[in-house]
Amino acid sequence: MNKNRKKHSDFFKKLKNDYAENLILDTESFPDYARDASEINIKPDAIFFAKNENDIVDVLKKCCAENIPVVFRGAGTGYTGGAVPVSGGLVLSLEKLRKLEIDAENKIALCGPGVITIELMNEAKGHEMSYPPDPASYDESALGGNVAENAGGLHCKKYGVTKDYVIGLRAVTIEGEIINTGYFSNTDIFDLTSVLIGSEGLLAAVIEIAVRLIKIPDVGPTILVAYDKPEEAAAVVAEIIRLGIIPAVMEYMDDDAIDCSNRYEKSIDIKKAKAILLLETDGKNCISEAETIKNICQQHNPVSLIIESDPVLTENLWKIRRNLSKAVKASVKYKIAEDVCVPPSKLPELIKFVSALNAQFPIRVNSYGHAGDGNLHVNFLTDDKKDIENGLIGGGIKQLFKKTLELGGTLTGEHGIGLTKKDFLEMEFTSDTIDRMKDIKSVFDPNNLLNPGKMFSRKK
Ligand SMILES: Cc1cc2nc3c(=O)[nH]c(=O)nc-3n(C[C@H](O)[C@H](O)[C@H](O)COP(=O)(O)OP(=O)(O)OC[C@H]3O[C@@H](n4cnc5c(N)ncnc54)[C@H](O)[C@@H]3O)c2cc1C
Repeated sequence: MNKNRKKHSDFFKKLKNDYAENLILDTESFPDYARDASEINIKPDAIFFAKNENDIVDVLKKCCAENIPVVFRGAGTGYTGGAVPVSGGLVLSLEKLRKLEIDAENKIALCGPGVITIELMNEAKGHEMSYPPDPASYDESALGGNVAENAGGLHCKKYGVTKDYVIGLRAVTIEGEIINTGYFSNTDIFDLTSVLIGSEGLLAAVIEIAVRLIKIPDVGPTILVAYDKPEEAAAVVAEIIRLGIIPAVMEYMDDDAIDCSNRYEKSIDIKKAKAILLLETDGKNCISEAETIKNICQQHNPVSLIIESDPVLTENLWKIRRNLSKAVKASVKYKIAEDVCVPPSKLPELIKFVSALNAQFPIRVNSYGHAGDGNLHVNFLTDDKKDIENGLIGGGIKQLFKKTLELGGTLTGEHGIGLTKKDFLEMEFTSDTIDRMKDIKSVFDPNNLLNPGKMFSRKK
């Protein structure tokens, strides 16, 4: 056993005296806590299931005093290895903090970080309100993870992402101090809510989240249109944007992604197509906008066009998109999922690039995403682990990132940087920008104990 592991082991044995029930030392029995939705798997030395805020304060203070690395964890659905304990130490799970209170009068919800996204959405709906950020993982991901990754979703073009709804946070630092921001402190001087959103578990544990809710809008019909050329789908998107229509949903998927979805669960019969768009309008003009979109779709020679208002049948159309991530994963042993984002006007060029990459690359590359805001999920798919180890996939990812940046885009639409993208940071940010972000990390966590080995790790 190396010196660090021995030190960690002694520390956790001692901690077990205080937390007999919620500290797990036999981490082999909890293999899920060594990984997230990326293909990375590293065992922690211990797992702690916090039951309340006092537990978190106490355990963080003790870890800080003994220099023990800590990795926060929500539901472990992250795609970039964010919750994977690269340096061992403690995985601190926030999943049991499940407070969920709605203040209907002020249209606010107060949530624990372990609340699953769909639970907040359903609770808000019960009060005739809506919480719009809806990652495709909404039935699994936790709100703490959504905040830490600034999760987006299918409705993000029109309604924004997590940061557009969080109005305040309570968080605990590695030293066990409690920070109250926004709603929880009445007023902000520095905007610490924004600093913490998207901080990927590097700065503090988010222990309570205040979000604003909105009125449920009227919803128009769901439109599913299929084309035998991806360029036609791209042209439809461009035309809708040109007319100034912002659909509530405008999702794109390519032929390989459609095949995966069909094999996973055939919710509807659609003709073989190279590209599909799933669209929905809402708000007071939802019917007239849907009519305009239908006309645009028809002008581009669709192989099929389905317009559906019946809630049960609509759900079948939605399933094609909602299932996609799991469907693609089920089609292969290793799915390396990237999520790049370009200005929407550049999306056709990016789609063309991915299609050309797929044609010349030795393994399958497919794509789907939120067309409205230029966010494309590009998946490198293989059954052979060697393709990851020998750098083949890494090379493809680098080509994708290079093209994305040339088009004025970003390496991460919504999945964060975590472990998988940290080596590419310099491609997008200047060294001065990275240095200032490292400084912020050092202020919150001077000894680099929170999520070490991820982006911005710098020991003083
Ligand atoms: C099928 C599928 C579909 C997906 N679709 C989308 C999508 O449409 N949009 C999207 O944005 N993402 C998507 N994702 C990615 C993922 O679901 C999101 O990033 C989600 O926000 C992660 O939440 P989580 O609770 O699982 O976080 P985890 O994976 O547990 O953790 C993610 C990061 O957040 C940190 N963290 C977690 N909780 C806290 C906390 N309370 N305080 C501080 N740090 C914390 C962790 O340390 C880690 O760095 C998808 C993933 C899957 C598997």
